[in-house]
Amino acid sequence: MPAPSPRPQISALERYHSPQVDVPVRLNTNESPFDPPAAWLAEIAAEAGNLRWNRYPDRSAHRLREALAVRHGVEASRIFAANGSNEVLQTLLMCFAGPGRNVTVFEPTYQLHSHIARTLGSEVIAVARREDFTLTPDDVRAAVRPGACDVVFMCSPNNPTGICESRATVRVAAEAAAEAGALLVVDEAYAEFADWSAMEMIADAGADVAANVVVSRTFSKTWSLAALRLGYCVASPAVVECLEAAVLPYHLDAFKQAAGLAALGHDDDMRRRVAAIVSERDRITAAMTRLPLRLWASGANFVLFRPEIPAAGLWRELVDRGILVRDCGSWPGLAGCLRVTVGTPEENDAFLDALSACLGRGQ
Ligand SMILES: *Cc1c(COP(=O)(O)O)cnc(C)c1O
Repeated sequence: MPAPSPRPQISALERYHSPQVDVPVRLNTNESPFDPPAAWLAEIAAEAGNLRWNRYPDRSAHRLREALAVRHGVEASRIFAANGSNEVLQTLLMCFAGPGRNVTVFEPTYQLHSHIARTLGSEVIAVARREDFTLTPDDVRAAVRPGACDVVFMCSPNNPTGICESRATVRVAAEAAAEAGALLVVDEAYAEFADWSAMEMIADAGADVAANVVVSRTFSKTWSLAALRLGYCVASPAVVECLEAAVLPYHLDAFKQAAGLAALGHDDDMRRRVAAIVSERDRITAAMTRLPLRLWASGANFVLFRPEIPAAGLWRELVDRGILVRDCGSWPGLAGCLRVTVGTPEENDAFLDALSACLGRGQ
């Protein structure tokens, strides 16, 4: 008897995953190397005892959304929260992409944008960045044309290059999306590491591009909460209504709502961790500049580099020395590239020692 066959879009896909290799120093998925604050843990432990576990959670997650709204100076009707920003992106694409619609990405960029678009049957339009992975306002203007685009992704700082897009580039993308009747999704998973955010373009609900731009954020990286699976976006109320209609009922569990709300009370702690990571990032960048490799200056918590020797061999040698980085070699435009996440000072020392030794510059 024939086995059930998935839709062709699904069988054609490679699974998106990062190898979970068990080594002492894991610098491959851009997580924070630091624990969230102990006080937060105590708060949510107490909260777990107060929850009404027999009841469905607040479907509208209104306390969490209120707090996020205050944080960004917008109305709560403009916030949508979900299980990680990946679910935010998936829900956006369920509403605005899918069969008969297209999704524009600027490669190399975050692989999940095109991956989710394909799982939903959308056409993916991959536009190549310049050789140095930058993108100018003119490049964007040429790619986002009226009548030709449904959804456009920008990622700033961009994973995996680390490059922060300029205000001018994102501004042109927003204007072009507005003219084209398209949705621009600015993925700001690393926003707190950057010195500006596209939120400023849409904070005012009456801004000319506010109906066409969505900015997504996550608790996974800067908030040290990858295990919590919580992300959100700021969008127009009309877009949020679509997202609420498409997402499963009660998708955000009560504990997660409480834990996210509690985390927002520890903003100072988050900023201290971000500052520590930025200073470590600058230290490893300076050290790597002296090695035989090309690197891209990063505005996030990772550094992309291309060693002069074959990257796959170097990746293996680093694993043998107990250090896991990301091999980006199979991603569009990234042949020969590896990406290292900034870890603790000790982990970064271990990485730099191993890298120097592998590249023949060990002491
Ligand atoms: C890590 C990452 C995310 C992640 O998402 P969560 O689902 O919130 O963990 C989204 N976008 C980019 C660009 C990322 O690097």
